[in-house]
Amino acid sequence: MGYMNITSKGQQEVTYDAVVIGSGISGGFAAMELCAKGYKTLVLERGRMVKHGEYPTANLDTWDLPNRNLVTAEERAAHYFKQSRLSWWVNQDNKHWINKDDEYPYDEVERFDWIRGHHVGGRSIMWGRHCYRWSDIDFEANLKEGIAVDWPIRYADIEPWYDYVERFVGVSGQKEGLKQVPDGQFLKPFPLNCAEQHMREQVLKKYPGRIVTPGRVANLSEYDPNHHKGMRGPCQSRDRCWRGCPYGAYFSSLSATLAVAADTGNLTIRPDSIVHEIVFDRNTGKASAVRVKDANSGEEIDFKARLIFCCASTIGSTAILLNSRSEVFPDGLGNSSGELGHNIMDHHYGMGASGILPGMEDTYYKGRRPVGFYIPRFRNIDEESRRDDYVRGFGYQGSAQRGTNAPAGMIGAGLKEVIFSPGPYQVGMTCFGEMLPYHENRMFLNFDKLDPNGMPTIVFDAKLRENEYKLREDGVQCAVEMLEAAGCEEIRSWNEETAPGACIHEMGTARMGRDPKTSVLNKWNQMHEVPNVFVTDGSCMTSAGTQNPSITYMALTARAVDYAHKEVQGGRL
Ligand SMILES: Cc1cc2nc3c(=O)[nH]c(=O)nc-3n(C[C@H](O)[C@H](O)[C@H](O)COP(=O)(O)OP(=O)(O)OC[C@H]3O[C@@H](n4cnc5c(N)ncnc54)[C@H](O)[C@@H]3O)c2cc1C
Repeated sequence: MGYMNITSKGQQEVTYDAVVIGSGISGGFAAMELCAKGYKTLVLERGRMVKHGEYPTANLDTWDLPNRNLVTAEERAAHYFKQSRLSWWVNQDNKHWINKDDEYPYDEVERFDWIRGHHVGGRSIMWGRHCYRWSDIDFEANLKEGIAVDWPIRYADIEPWYDYVERFVGVSGQKEGLKQVPDGQFLKPFPLNCAEQHMREQVLKKYPGRIVTPGRVANLSEYDPNHHKGMRGPCQSRDRCWRGCPYGAYFSSLSATLAVAADTGNLTIRPDSIVHEIVFDRNTGKASAVRVKDANSGEEIDFKARLIFCCASTIGSTAILLNSRSEVFPDGLGNSSGELGHNIMDHHYGMGASGILPGMEDTYYKGRRPVGFYIPRFRNIDEESRRDDYVRGFGYQGSAQRGTNAPAGMIGAGLKEVIFSPGPYQVGMTCFGEMLPYHENRMFLNFDKLDPNGMPTIVFDAKLRENEYKLREDGVQCAVEMLEAAGCEEIRSWNEETAPGACIHEMGTARMGRDPKTSVLNKWNQMHEVPNVFVTDGSCMTSAGTQNPSITYMALTARAVDYAHKEVQGGRL
């Protein structure tokens, strides 16, 4: 991977064909597509350099890690006091991928769990890899219900781009022919185990339309030489993906997009480069440069480019745009609509159910699959499934596993004996609910309080509202119903509200739309008011759907690069 360490005395101008801000899921894809089309491309990443294979905990077992993989109470209090409010995110095996809260502070009017890491590869290293297509049920919802603004695209606009990115990424899954989660270009699925298959059959009998299907994930379930010339190997079912995979078996910027981009010879990647703003030139009506502060030297450098792709993640990109103030755009670049920073969404969870599934005790399964089952949305997808008390819906992720029988508090020989016999199948499922785009839910910058890097402090003010609360009750109820249908015993359910951000699907703060007066981006992810700036991360989303969103960011990114290239070729950009 080309890495140019650019140093200069004072202000230096360096010119590229294209600059991509951020090297995570969307930035990696933008860089690969631009490089493949021949653009000399600079990727600016604020975090440290990481190369594929540099995953320090990838081969460690739990007992190799301090404190059986737990971070200490002192460490949590000192460094992860926001991100460890949900107990499971920060552990010894992944803490090096997560920003320390004391080094990267932000403020909250309402609690916002902002889980992120600054390093080359961004959250493509730690992501859960679930990939589900959106459908017209999602793209048409705002218009039909009169909520926020209409999406400027429909499924037909993005479908070929889903095909394109899925073939490259490698998504395992099972075709089901569902209108709410269309089928894709799947590798073979990681199959349901016998308990999950049993659940699929029983649930379907009682609730036709509720489909228990293998989760669709960006893990290579089979070897395919198309995946970066065979450089990516098949999944070993180690279930340690979030640490980084030395086999390149799941999709990340490091294993896939940046590696392919580097092969073109057109990629320069510059880590430790904190983008502060995009500079607007009122004479051309375009952005002229990306202004960076070097994290090591503190030096300020402007990088010029014909095309700028802003892919610094939803919050990161929105902060850069809000900080890009000029005479023409006093409230942030391309923000005449005033919508920049508003309409922030996430999925909400902390609701679900679990139970014991008796029987099948003569069966077992091999390996640690990287995924269990998925139950796509089944509420409000047609007249029959329409609810009067809330709009939109929810999906579930879950699995059935044989745990141990060990009762709490046991020690010594008795414990040893018990843990050597596998317990019964235990089924657990978590509900992921859609959150509506409320103008009042927003992030903004506090220009009177600078962070340690000299950027105005990000402040969050967003919360769940009535529609989300009603949906949650139904989500829990349906989970219990399905476990009952499967024959589970000792069913336990929970509904513990999570703060926005906690699902790590934050989106919507620079939304796409048809009208520049009410949206920031047009249907090509291009800023309505600044034609050479494209924003293709989650900030572009006009609604949140129920599906994990990153495959949609990838499809929109590839589509936007294709469009930008045609505009360049046509002499319009
Ligand atoms: C534990 C976990 C599980 C997840 N599971 C799933 C899942 O199953 N399915 C799914 O679809 N999504 C999942 N996600 C979410 C997914 O990771 C994100 O949607 C995705 O990474 C967003 O891509 P991005 O390119 O917008 O941002 P990121 O991948 O976060 O990359 C943004 C990059 O920009 C850099 N950056 C930020 N600000 C600046 C700046 N000012 N200057 C320069 N660089 C900057 C950051 O350092 C970062 O490297 C999960 C995330 C986590 C953490």
